[in-house]
This record gives sequence, C-alpha cells and structure tokens, in this order.
Amino acid sequence: MICFFSVENDFDLIIVGSGPAGLGAAFEVLLRAPKTSVLVVDRNEFSSGGLRNDCKMNFTWPIGFPEICWTKDQAETYLDRVEAFLSPRILEKKNVDVYRKRAEKLGVSLLSIRQTHLGTDGGLELIKGLTLKLKALGAELSLGEMMLDIDMERKTAITDRRELRYRDLILAPGRGGFAFLQNIMNKAGIAYRDNVVDIGLRIETKEERYSIVRDYYDPKFFFPKKTRTFCTNSRSAYVVQEKYGDQESGLWYSVNGHAWSSSRPENGLTNFAILKTVTLTAPLASGQAYARMLGMQAALLGGGRPIMQRVGDFRLGKRSFAESFTGDLYDFEPTLPSCTPGDIALSAPAKILNSVWNAMKLLDTIVPGLLHPSTIMYYPEIKLYANRPAFVDEYFRAAEGLYLIGDGAGTSRGITSAWASGLRAADGILRSPT
Ligand SMILES: Cc1cc2nc3c(=O)[nH]c(=O)nc-3n(C[C@H](O)[C@H](O)[C@H](O)COP(=O)(O)OP(=O)(O)OC[C@H]3O[C@@H](n4cnc5c(N)ncnc54)[C@H](O)[C@@H]3O)c2cc1C
Repeated sequence: MICFFSVENDFDLIIVGSGPAGLGAAFEVLLRAPKTSVLVVDRNEFSSGGLRNDCKMNFTWPIGFPEICWTKDQAETYLDRVEAFLSPRILEKKNVDVYRKRAEKLGVSLLSIRQTHLGTDGGLELIKGLTLKLKALGAELSLGEMMLDIDMERKTAITDRRELRYRDLILAPGRGGFAFLQNIMNKAGIAYRDNVVDIGLRIETKEERYSIVRDYYDPKFFFPKKTRTFCTNSRSAYVVQEKYGDQESGLWYSVNGHAWSSSRPENGLTNFAILKTVTLTAPLASGQAYARMLGMQAALLGGGRPIMQRVGDFRLGKRSFAESFTGDLYDFEPTLPSCTPGDIALSAPAKILNSVWNAMKLLDTIVPGLLHPSTIMYYPEIKLYANRPAFVDEYFRAAEGLYLIGDGAGTSRGITSAWASGLRAADGILRSPT
C-alpha cells in the first residue's frame, strides 16, 4: 500500500464512526502500516460508540456474528485477533451443565460463551486508553464532526465542517447511522437488503429470581421460533431507553439495558432481553420501516414512552397502572420509571408476544422464579441489523475505496464482532495494490 501523508484535508483512510468497528480498522491499519494517514470522525463529542454501553464482550461463535457474512472458521480466526488486542479477563462460569440439562429437556439450548464484562464505567476507562493509544499511533480523531455525504467520483467526503479527500473510506456508523448509510447506498447505487429485525421485550426482576446470573453473567438461551435471551445485566443493572426517529418522521423508543462494574453499589436487580428474529419475505417490506411502525405504535399507546407491565397483571390479562408499581406484592421499583404502565398485548404483534411469553415460561422452568408477579416486562426492545449491502469482495468493500462495516452495515451485532468486521476491512485495505 502506497501512502501519502495527510495534507490538510487529504487522508489515506477516513473512518466514519469511532465505535468498535471503526476502532478495529484504525488500529489494524496503523499497527501494520504506521505511515498511513488516518482520520477518525465521529458526530458525538465524546465517543467510541457502543463501547460506552455496558461493555460485555463475547468471544464465542456465533454470538454477535450474522451468519450471512461470516463462517465459523472466519469468525473464530478474527475473534482470536480481537482477543489478542483487547486482552480481556474472561469471566468464570459455574453449573452450566446443570442448567443446560434442564434446558435440553424442554427443547431449549444454552450456549457456554467465553465473555467478559467491563460495565459502563469500565467501558469508559477502556475508551480513554484506546483513544490515547490511537493518537499515539498517529491517528487524527475529530469528535463532534458529522459526515453528511460522499462524492465517490471525486473521493471526497462532506462533513458539517469541511470537505475531505480520501483514498479509502470506511463507514462504520452503527445502528444509529442506518438512515445515513441507506442514503449513501441509495445515491451510490449500492444494492442492499433490509428485511431482518429483532423485536422483543426487556425483562427486569430481582437477581434472586433469575439466580443463574450468579453462575453465568450473560447466559445465552435459544428457544424455539428464533427466540433468544440477549444482553443480560446484573449486580448494578439498569434499564435504559434509546431514542429513534425525529420530530418530523416521528419519535419512538427502544428499551435496552446496562450495568455498572463491580466498583458501584449493587441494586439486587437483573435485566435482559428476549428477542425474536423476524425475517420479512414476499411482499418484501423494509425491516426498518416495520420496526419504526411498531415503535411508533408502542409510543402512541404509551403516551410517547415505552410500555411496562408487571407479569402478575399480564397473566391476568389486565393492564398495569401506576399502583401496580407500588403495591405490597410488588417488591421492587422499576429502574426506568419514566415508562408508561400499560398493556403490552395491545401493542406487540401476537406472533412476537406469544414466542416471548413461551420463552419466559420455559425459562421459569429452567431457572425457577422468573415469573414472579412483580417481574417487569418492558416493550419494545428493537434491534435493527437490517442493512445488508451487496459487497463486492470478502472484505466488506461495497464500491471502489468504500467499505461498510459494523452493526449499521449488518456485518455485526455486538462489540467483538464489530471489531472483527473492522479488522476484515483493514485486511482488504492493506492488501489493495494502490
Ligand atoms: C445500551 C446498549 C448496551 C449494549 N451493550 C452491549 C454489550 O454489553 N455487549 C455487546 O457486545 N454489545 C452491546 N451493545 C451493542 C454494541 O454497542 C454494538 O453492537 C456495537 O457498538 C456496534 O459497533 P459499531 O462500531 O458498528 O457502531 P457504534 O458502536 O454504534 O458506533 C458508531 C459510531 O458512529 C457515529 N456516527 C454515526 N453516524 C455518523 C455520521 N453521520 N457522522 C459521524 N459519526 C457518525 C456514532 O456517533 C457512533 O459513535 C449495546 C448497545 C446499547 C445501545
């Protein structure tokens, strides 16, 4: 690879997005080709994308890897490289065989995953360290700068501050950058599919009622009908909401969860998602449009907020009221109290809700306690992984000098796989004979 040093706004490589996908690519290129001029741009003032949230990292196939663009061998080879760079402290697990046997009797599988958990505060520390390291390697980091458009013929990227010239451009804008990415792909004539979406609920309960989390931090259960547990948080765990859309197109929220590291006081609660993967077929509709409609319907019924309902009310077919969250049966307060107590069954499609409720019943048999009446169900939790660009090579190149990676491009569904997709794009860039 021939490099030309940065002259003002000219760079060998521009990376949009400082999340794990962008960072993976930046480090790999700079470590192997130190003279490359690299600019990392992020629209947020302090970023590194999803590393800021909870920072559980999974190092086992297939967690986080969309099978449409990764083989097991490929993913494992890249995971080894991610692990070698990040040097995680893998968490110990106990009694996995006991839970697995119980699960298998019910047609449920439990994967034993190598994972680590830094917590939201630990993630922030990691970002600080990575940022310093990246700058020491010579990268330029421009925070608070938003990429608006690209002109592929002139190899120019247009931000809200300036025009930049690049030889290679990596777009890694995460899930929040779906619309941006679709815009670019539409303009550049890059074909893509957008027909898969994960939809479900976040469950919050006392840790003692989902006691497996003391043995296995983020247990990965797979239930029938493409339904699974996802992103379990405990010790000092909170449910949060993410905002999507805008005033013009309509605002909606998805719930999510995170936890602080062991340095913060424990609150005795745990939360996790149960998600169902929906693949839309003929007549093909956009997964994002479908997700947006569901999100907006939930926001409509929730008065502009996500909906929460106690399991006790749900079982009786009753909506929850504010009192449902203060009564004597209900022995803990929601950690996202701004949600509207309501009736999830009025909003969630039957097929999704039935699959999730079935999974909850199976889980309650494997880890007794989950269906205590006080357990809270939050709706909706929606994961958009749906952009599937037509890549022209195995390095996630979508056009001459343009690579699309990370959750936004559908090449990952988590921190380690996002990092791995950055390594894969970097491999492509480093082997290109410019
Ligand atoms: C609350 C929460 C908790 C999570 N917990 C975990 C977890 O514990 N473990 C796990 O594996 N995954 C977790 N995830 C998912 C994980 O964060 C993502 O899978 C991962 O961060 C994806 O990486 P990425 O680099 O593709 O995108 P991101 O990390 O989202 O980074 C994209 C970056 O691009 C920037 N950007 C977007 N558009 C533009 C633009 N036009 N111009 C400039 N910059 C732009 C954004 O500001 C952002 O910083 C969590 C997500 C959330 C929201």
